[in-house]
Amino acid sequence: ATPTAVMVGTGVGATQGVLIKGGQALESAHKVNCIVFDKTGTLTVGKPVVVTTKLFKKMSIKDFYEFTAAAEVNSEHPIAKAIVEHAKKITEEQNHSWPEAHNFVSVSGHGVKAIVLNKDILVGNKKMMLDHNITISADAEEILAEAESLAQTGILVSLDGEVAGVLAVSDPLKPGANEVISILNSMKIKSIMVTGDNWGTANSIARQAGIETVIAEAQPETKATKIKELQASGYTVAMVGDGINDSPALVAADVGMAIGAGTDIAIEAADIVLMKSNLEDIIIAIDLAKKTFSRIR
Ligand code: ADP
Ligand code: MG
Repeated sequence: ATPTAVMVGTGVGATQGVLIKGGQALESAHKVNCIVFDKTGTLTVGKPVVVTTKLFKKMSIKDFYEFTAAAEVNSEHPIAKAIVEHAKKITEEQNHSWPEAHNFVSVSGHGVKAIVLNKDILVGNKKMMLDHNITISADAEEILAEAESLAQTGILVSLDGEVAGVLAVSDPLKPGANEVISILNSMKIKSIMVTGDNWGTANSIARQAGIETVIAEAQPETKATKIKELQASGYTVAMVGDGINDSPALVAADVGMAIGAGTDIAIEAADIVLMKSNLEDIIIAIDLAKKTFSRIR
């Protein structure tokens, strides 16, 4: 393409809220035949809410959330924010001050731990509990499985080494995600989902979106490695993501696309920014690239 055509292409993109960082991004985008999607905040709305709580100890739900929010208020994770918001509703106070958490530790991809009111508390996934030798009862397992089958994420809370309760967090698919995947299919572009979330939830969301290939429980390096594998097998790969943990993959991809509402680090790592955070704009970007680069040949 001539420099003028590229300028026109990026200009048209800008008017539609698709920020294309240079001609190379546009050139690579016209060859894309595989797109790797992050789940949370990319395919899903990214604002999880607590939908169910099940207690396994004799304690009030208020006390349960007092402990849980005290630990999670120190975390930036969207799940932590959902839990604190829910806890405020339970206590019926917007400006509730939680008990102090001591020795707070955030374990990336697993959860958080702290000491609250002299009790050891862990909030996180199964891995978090198993790594701390905490037994998960059959009842708790059942609730986790049920949450996963509903495309929700189950979170365990343990107090002094015993599971005190399980809560389920829902983060629904973005409206229209399914249609975008089916249009990509018709364009002969393969869609893959990669997420740090568990397999059950990941598979449920993928099914709703119409994505057949799923990789779950992925560390940030796993996301980038997967991209390199796809490239090695001949694909031109776009990665769409919003999180800090997506940035290595955004850099590794032929075209990194960041969700505008995502983290600054992802936006910086990407070649194209979807300013309106709409998945439809992936198609706009690729169409624009195809128009720019097929006109000239
Ligand atoms: P993703 O953002 O792709 O879902 P993460 O790596 O951030 O993946 O988290 C993976 C999983 O770890 C979450 O689905 C959740 O089960 C658990 N987790 C991480 N942080 C927290 C937290 N602060 N509280 C509870 N669970 C957490
Ligand atoms: Mg994400």
